[in-house]
Amino acid sequence: MSRFSSSYLQSLTPYTPGEQPRDKSYVKLNTNESPFPPSPLAMAAVNEAQLSDLRLYSDPSADELTCEIARCYGVDKDNIIVTNGSDEALAFCYLAFCDRDRGIAFADVTYGFYPVYAALFNVPVKVIPLDSDYKVNATDYLNLDCNILIANPNAQTGIAISAEEIEEIVLSNRDRVVIIDEAYADFSQVSCVPLALKYDNVVVVRTMSKSRSLAGARIGYAIASKQLACDLRTVKFSFNPYNLGRLPIILGAAALRDKAYFDDCVAKIKDNRAYLTRSLQDRGFYVLPSSANFVLARSGAIGGRQLYLALKDRGVLVRHLSDKRIEDFIRITVGDRAECDALLAAIDTVTEVL
Ligand code: PMP
Repeated sequence: MSRFSSSYLQSLTPYTPGEQPRDKSYVKLNTNESPFPPSPLAMAAVNEAQLSDLRLYSDPSADELTCEIARCYGVDKDNIIVTNGSDEALAFCYLAFCDRDRGIAFADVTYGFYPVYAALFNVPVKVIPLDSDYKVNATDYLNLDCNILIANPNAQTGIAISAEEIEEIVLSNRDRVVIIDEAYADFSQVSCVPLALKYDNVVVVRTMSKSRSLAGARIGYAIASKQLACDLRTVKFSFNPYNLGRLPIILGAAALRDKAYFDDCVAKIKDNRAYLTRSLQDRGFYVLPSSANFVLARSGAIGGRQLYLALKDRGVLVRHLSDKRIEDFIRITVGDRAECDALLAAIDTVTEVL
C-alpha cells in the first residue's frame, strides 16, 4: 500500500491468479488452459497487413467477432457483447445489475473472482453452501432477494447442474438477474444459452480461453436478451469502448469458424478427463465427477497442499485452493495424454515413499 491508498483500496483483497512460472518449464496443469494450440485457421488469419493495421484503433463493436458468435449460437448480434476475457463480462454484470441494495448470491466453493468483484463494486454477497456432495443445490436458489451468479459447470468442482434446474431458479427469480458463467460449458452437456433467449433475466457468460485455446488473447462474451445486452453495452462504452484489440477480434472470429478443430479438441479433452479420472481412482483418489477441463481430486494418503508441493518439486504444477471445504483436494487441468501420464507418474513417485 502506498501512503496515498484510500481506505476503500486498503479493504480490498485482490484475486490471486494461478502461478505462471518463468523459473523453469513445468508440466503446467494449474490454470485450466488448453494443451492444444489455437485453431490453425486462427493462426493463419493474422498476416502482415493486419499487424500493420495495429496503428489503428480496433472496432469498438468487434463486428467480425460478434457476427461469428451470433452465427455459432443462432442468436442476433444485439444479444451479444464481447469482452476482454469473461472476467470483464462478469465485471460488467456486477456494474450493470448490482449495487449496495441489490446484492448477489453465489456458492461457497466457486470461482474466486466473484467475491473479489463484490468487494470492488461494493455489492453485498449471499454465500450459499454447496451440498455435501459439492453440488449446487437448485432449491437453495429459489425466490432470493438478490441477483444470482452460478458457474455451470462449477469452478473448482467441475460439477454441472441441469438446464432444467437452472430454469427453475430463473422462473422463481423473475425480478432478479441470473448470471450463468459457462466458462467450462463446452466440456459438458449443458448450456443455458437457450434460457438467455427465452427469459429477459438471464445472462450467459462465455470465454474462448479454455475450449478455444485462446486464453492469451483474452476473449469473452455474454449472451442475453437485447435489453440486458444493451445494459452491458452501456457499461462497456462507459468503461473501455476498445476493450478487444484488433488481433483478438481476428483470432476469435477465425477460431469460431473452425468447428472441426474445436470438436476434435473438446473430444480429446473429454477422453483424457475420463482417463485421468479412472487412473486417479485406481490410485485410491476420490475424484469429483467433472464436466469441465479439470478434475478436483483428493488423495486419501496425503494432504492437498503437501501433494501440490511434492508435485511441483517433480516439475508438475497443479492448483491447490485454500478454501476450507476443498483444502484436501488438488485441482488438475486435463492436459494431453503425455501430460496426464507425467502427472500420474509424478503422483506414483510421491505416494511410493509415503
Ligand atoms: N469464469 C470461471 C468459472 C473461470 O474459471 C475463469 C478462468 N479462471 C473465468 C471465468 C475467466 O476466464 P477468462 O477471463 O480467461 O475468460
